[in-house]
Amino acid sequence: MASCKDNEQDQRVHGIAAAIRVVPDFPKKGIMFRDITTLLLNPKAFRNAVDLFVERYLGKDITVVAGIEARGLIFGPPIALAIGAKFIPLRKPKKLPGEVISEKYDLEYGSDCLEMHVGAVQPGDRALVVDDLIATGGTLCAAMNLLERAGANVVEFACVIELPELKGRDKLKGKPLHILVESR
Ligand code: AMP
Repeated sequence: MASCKDNEQDQRVHGIAAAIRVVPDFPKKGIMFRDITTLLLNPKAFRNAVDLFVERYLGKDITVVAGIEARGLIFGPPIALAIGAKFIPLRKPKKLPGEVISEKYDLEYGSDCLEMHVGAVQPGDRALVVDDLIATGGTLCAAMNLLERAGANVVEFACVIELPELKGRDKLKGKPLHILVESR
């Protein structure tokens, strides 16, 4: 039998799913874009999304939360603050002013590159990687490669949405992926 806590959790997840808008043919024909800006317009649903992540990671000895540009930079910082971890931005090329390391990767719609500041993580850091959505998994894989090159241990990936038909999980070398809502 489902407990009160399960029901309450289901309600929060339902509210988050309902607040995400699907925009057909953006940014290219054939892409069903999951737009989380409508989630940000709903303070209760946005708060619930952050809280569900924080409840999962509090006390798990995560020392660094790495947020991926662009929308991982929205969800990552409140999680990092709440669990007492440092936050590092993983950014698109030529955005970070210091010395960087880079990883190229393929997207559902094109290719791109992520950069991380040298010295942002230390060997032995326990990292949580945060983004809004996993599609083909290339972005999260590039993030993991950057963190591991700097000696960090990627403990888990956390995304609001998964597009399971694209099998992005298979690119994550068996590392756990935590998702809040099923794709619609
Ligand atoms: P991937 O590397 O294929 O897993 O793509 C994930 C990244 O691309 C995330 O940063 C997403 O924000 C973005 N992305 C890919 N596909 C979509 C989509 N259908 N809707 C919204 N964002 C997407």
